[in-house]
Amino acid sequence: MKPLGPIPAGFEARDGVLVVGGRPVTQWVEEAGGTPLFLYAADRLRAQVARLRAALPPRLALHYAVKANPFVPLLELMAGLVDGFDIASGGELAITAKAGIDPRLVSFAGPGKRDAELEAAIVAGVTLNLESENEARRALALGERLGVVPRLAIRVNPDFDLKGSGMKMGGGAKPFGLDAERVPALAREIAAAGAEWRGFHIFAGSQALDAAAIAETQGQTLELAARLADECGLPLVHCNLGGGFGIPYFPGEAPLDLDFVGARLAERFERLPDVLQDTAFCIELGRYLVGELGVYLTRVVDRKVSHGEVFLITDGGMHHQLAASGNFGTVVRRNYPSAIATRFGAEVEEEASIVGCLCTPLDKLADKGGFPRAEVGDLVAVFCAGAYGASASPMAFLGQGPALELLV
Ligand SMILES: *Cc1c(COP(=O)(O)O)cnc(C)c1O
Repeated sequence: MKPLGPIPAGFEARDGVLVVGGRPVTQWVEEAGGTPLFLYAADRLRAQVARLRAALPPRLALHYAVKANPFVPLLELMAGLVDGFDIASGGELAITAKAGIDPRLVSFAGPGKRDAELEAAIVAGVTLNLESENEARRALALGERLGVVPRLAIRVNPDFDLKGSGMKMGGGAKPFGLDAERVPALAREIAAAGAEWRGFHIFAGSQALDAAAIAETQGQTLELAARLADECGLPLVHCNLGGGFGIPYFPGEAPLDLDFVGARLAERFERLPDVLQDTAFCIELGRYLVGELGVYLTRVVDRKVSHGEVFLITDGGMHHQLAASGNFGTVVRRNYPSAIATRFGAEVEEEASIVGCLCTPLDKLADKGGFPRAEVGDLVAVFCAGAYGASASPMAFLGQGPALELLV
């Protein structure tokens, strides 16, 4: 048997059925009109935001990285809970507008922004986190043509990365941001051109569970911000310190020690250099805010035995949950947390692989896990499905179509 990832704390059963948002998932499936279904639990989001607010210094604003989950009802809920939103495309800009989010609370990073995207952002009053000199000059020219003062920050490619992070986004040659030594000249050029100078965006990595590594990176980020602000000779109004807070997905992983991160950052905020005294700071989190509030539900449509191995074949799969199948940024495939939702908490009776309905061996949701014996009609739950699920999976692959989504 291969181990399964840890199920996030707080999920319980009622009469053997997994409960989400106060009701058994069978009821939500009925209400939504079937499976596969992503359920997002609003109470878990509120609790997670409260935990972050309690642990982190009050001076630190909390932003949501929309790409983790752009489901509009979730964004509408999020709007009342966080201080800002970070987007990475014109499409996400349109989605935040649909969710009624104030564009002045939005910043837009990401390489390869097209003129139409820059224009929409400038007109709306979104802050652009500029990824290159070329992008800066196009934004300035567009602002002039449109008669709008663009709000511009520079994304810095830091000379360090977040140790132990699942996805490295800084350190060395990168398509993201401007190499640190080129930042001061561009910042001065932007300010001289009459744009609204919005400071730095410094993002060093993603999915880190090591609190000491995150604290160290935040320290390096503050030092870099201070050094660059000095060199720019401009007041640093705002600084996005990145994020990278991870959640446990795989066997043996433990939750991030958030209190440690918060305490270290509070200490650093106590003794900031003069050049950062008036700076407004934020972090941007995706999966840490929404990963654990999501459960992906799929129904067993077939149960078969091949060469002595049990396969539970479901109506879902990698086209909705690419990450759980092990094909989204992982080197070695390991099992996400999963369970038989209609026999939740029941004893392990057999070894089974849970697969999807796609005709490819890649389509595996759990490999040789230990489960209670499931039959056709049972529901399977894949946990940690709130981030990089529906919107980060190849929905159109094999014509299987999208999953349903429900905020409860
Ligand atoms: C993807 C991304 C995030 C969110 O990452 P998570 O691991 O989901 O927290 C934040 N900032 C930037 C710049 C990103 O590219």
